[in-house]
Amino acid sequence: MAFDSNIEDFDALGNDHIGTSENTPMRSDAFKLNNEEKIDIIKDDVRHIMETLGLDLTDDSLKGTPNRVAKMFVNEIFGGLNPDKKPSASTFDNKYKYGEMLVEKNITVYSTCEHHLLPIVGRAHIAYISNGTVVGLSKMNRIVDYFAKRPQVQERLTIQVVRELQNVLGTKDVACVIDAKHLCVNSRGIRDIESSTVTSEFGGKFQDMETRREFLDYIKLDTKF
Ligand SMILES: [Zn+2]
Repeated sequence: MAFDSNIEDFDALGNDHIGTSENTPMRSDAFKLNNEEKIDIIKDDVRHIMETLGLDLTDDSLKGTPNRVAKMFVNEIFGGLNPDKKPSASTFDNKYKYGEMLVEKNITVYSTCEHHLLPIVGRAHIAYISNGTVVGLSKMNRIVDYFAKRPQVQERLTIQVVRELQNVLGTKDVACVIDAKHLCVNSRGIRDIESSTVTSEFGGKFQDMETRREFLDYIKLDTKF
């Protein structure tokens, strides 16, 4: 996008949910302030928004909201911006020589649309084919959760999960499909409650149609217990 673009152009870009980069756009000074300092500043910003909307912040029900929202932003829903929170990369040798694909499906995704700061809620399905290294199953949930806890674009989230697992496992043979609802589409704007967005990233052997098909067939398996 050219530098002389005006604010309406950026508005349209956001409404169309077009992401600009595979990496989360961060400033180099992103961690100069510690979490407590960030919460302190954001608290005042939230109060300012609420006051501007005309709300009475002396009301008991609203009094605690600025601090509550600031803590939630920094520690919870955007906590994955901090690289310190990245799940440790502990891996194991594939002792039992399982050479087939491993699929972890229906991983809950709670993220936030970076264009509207509204929730993205859905499921991620991940597969990999081990080349000798394996990870604990819950590691995949934690990796999804880490990258989801950022202002996100679903395409970027999908790619970031795959790239991270490729690094951890030392193989390109990783795939991820995410199926999610965007509340900015479901609850405002076009207000389509039913629609969901599917994104996918297929690395290495998963670019082969047969391998990809096998993964997608596993996702369809009914595993209700
Ligand atoms: Zn949005």
